[in-house]
Amino acid sequence: MTTQTTDSTASALELPAPDDTMTWLGDRSRGSLERAREMVRSLKADPPSDALAVLRAWNDVEIEVSNARASAAVYSETNPEKDVREAADVTMQQVDEFATDLGLDGELFEIFDALSSEGLDPTAARLLGRQLRDFRRSGVDRDETTRARLRELAQLELRASQEFGRNMREGARSIRVRPEDLAGMPADWLSSHEPDDDGLITVSTDYPDSVPVGTFCSVPATRRAISLERLNIAWPANDEVLQRLLTLRAEHAGLLGYKDWADFTAETKMIRTGSAINEFIDKIVAASTDAAQRDKQIVLDRLRQDDPDAQDIYGYDLPYYSELVRKERFDVDAQLLRTFFRFDAVLQGLLAVTGRLFGLTWGPVPDAPVWSPDVAAYDVLRDGTRIGRIYLDLHPREGKYKHAAQFTLVEGVRGRQLPEGVLVCNFSRGLMEHSEVTTFFHEFGHLIHHIVGGAQDWVEFTGVATEWDFVEAPSQMLEEWAWDPTVLAEFAVDADGAVIPEALVRRMRTADDFGKGYLARTQMFYAALSVGIHQHRPEDLTTAVREAQQRYSVFPYIEHTHFQCAFGHLDGYSSGYYTYMWSLVIAKDMFSAFHAEDLFEPHVAARYRDRVLAPGGSKDAADLVADFLGRPYTFDAYAAWLAE
Ligand SMILES: [Zn+2]
Repeated sequence: MTTQTTDSTASALELPAPDDTMTWLGDRSRGSLERAREMVRSLKADPPSDALAVLRAWNDVEIEVSNARASAAVYSETNPEKDVREAADVTMQQVDEFATDLGLDGELFEIFDALSSEGLDPTAARLLGRQLRDFRRSGVDRDETTRARLRELAQLELRASQEFGRNMREGARSIRVRPEDLAGMPADWLSSHEPDDDGLITVSTDYPDSVPVGTFCSVPATRRAISLERLNIAWPANDEVLQRLLTLRAEHAGLLGYKDWADFTAETKMIRTGSAINEFIDKIVAASTDAAQRDKQIVLDRLRQDDPDAQDIYGYDLPYYSELVRKERFDVDAQLLRTFFRFDAVLQGLLAVTGRLFGLTWGPVPDAPVWSPDVAAYDVLRDGTRIGRIYLDLHPREGKYKHAAQFTLVEGVRGRQLPEGVLVCNFSRGLMEHSEVTTFFHEFGHLIHHIVGGAQDWVEFTGVATEWDFVEAPSQMLEEWAWDPTVLAEFAVDADGAVIPEALVRRMRTADDFGKGYLARTQMFYAALSVGIHQHRPEDLTTAVREAQQRYSVFPYIEHTHFQCAFGHLDGYSSGYYTYMWSLVIAKDMFSAFHAEDLFEPHVAARYRDRVLAPGGSKDAADLVADFLGRPYTFDAYAAWLAE
């Protein structure tokens, strides 16, 4: 790895004032795309025979494409103005079309295919190999008819995906119940759910209704009814859409010479093959079974206090009884907990903790133009030199992205452009739930990875550009800091100035860990379904759900439900739902290198920063982790955590 050089010539991107956004966005995106087109034209007209020269020219193209895409991606999810968001969406479609055309451009492929990696340094040779692989994966080297069909399949797959998502978004269902059917619900929830004229209350399958009802409502019939509705969202419409999507994906993978879609998508990940996904699932099942049965028995015993005849516990009773167990056994009061997490203090605490851990300083840039008064900009400094910039957009706003994620604003390229990232979240402005605090640490982990890994020569390898099944590991690991009593003591202070008691933090952790075994089994049910239907193409998807649940989950299938129709990951993650657990296994192993008594030990943190985060995607993730741990990663730390 080249030694890290600080570079003061690269400057931060100057964002527009709100009134100038449309013009600015058009100029930046159209300008970048135009330059990229011109660069491709001249590369094809007069290709250098020297591999390094071609890669550099190609890097220039990719930088322009990423610049065209990144600011549009940020504005499409965050800009307060609807017309800006819509314009940004259109820009992103144009960028995607351009990128698809590049992948299927036979002339370009011939230029790359004629190059030799002899004399290239390892990173450039890796880049050349990556480009050739990606060209082949797009089907550029296939005959004309096949290429035309691949282009067509890409469109049909996109259409089916959009249909699947639309049916879910528009498929919300509801039940109508009497007020007494909602016994146990918190007062603030009830006050926002007044009965209609006929005296009945509507409960929707949307999360803000169905999650609290599943967790707190003490009337079993109500929990069961809303659960059945949720498991039937988009049924039967999406059953057909999903079958169509599976057929298209199978043809797509087959045309490119792969056994199935699972093999095709696994190729670019750490796991490499579809069958390795099946093996991984079996391994997690074996490791989690004892803990799963133990914790399930505790919840079932608690259910039997209320219902002595219960033979088993179903999904519609699980959240309610596991919450009761947490409260009764571990004495964790969610209402009391919140009083220690004031948003402002948590933010300052997170900046202090991560700054100390990674040797960074966050310098506020109060005069930087931003898209909403809610947004704050910070320069990221290391040893006094600016290495990037971040924007924090942390509270809900109309029309804004509804979840939590890190977005790239600028991809870092050494000496040319500084990495810049945006954290988009929807946190409370006042008191936070502890789960929001861990989410904050998690997402901040992606942001740090983007910035610290952003000093690469090749944009293809910058920041979080590691294998998809590794990318969650640094974030999942950083969540551990949000559970450490010493770390929390720095900022978790209530209105009277009392620091969160260490004993409470330890109880919180124990309560949170309760059920981890059966949750792992449920995760493996989802993972097995996600990979299995892409491998076996079952005739009846509901039967596939029933069988996968029976084999992998410790909770029984609920008759007359069709979970597959609203399992959104079958679209976005397709056969790769296992990736969450795969990353978690590695996160637990990496975390084992830190000393439990001192999570700030400087040489461990610095080694992690320099060997795992700083190289971005310039090496295989398995090698990054081995460079840090001094050995290949193993399953042991995860298995030990499950068995605790
Ligand atoms: Zn994440």
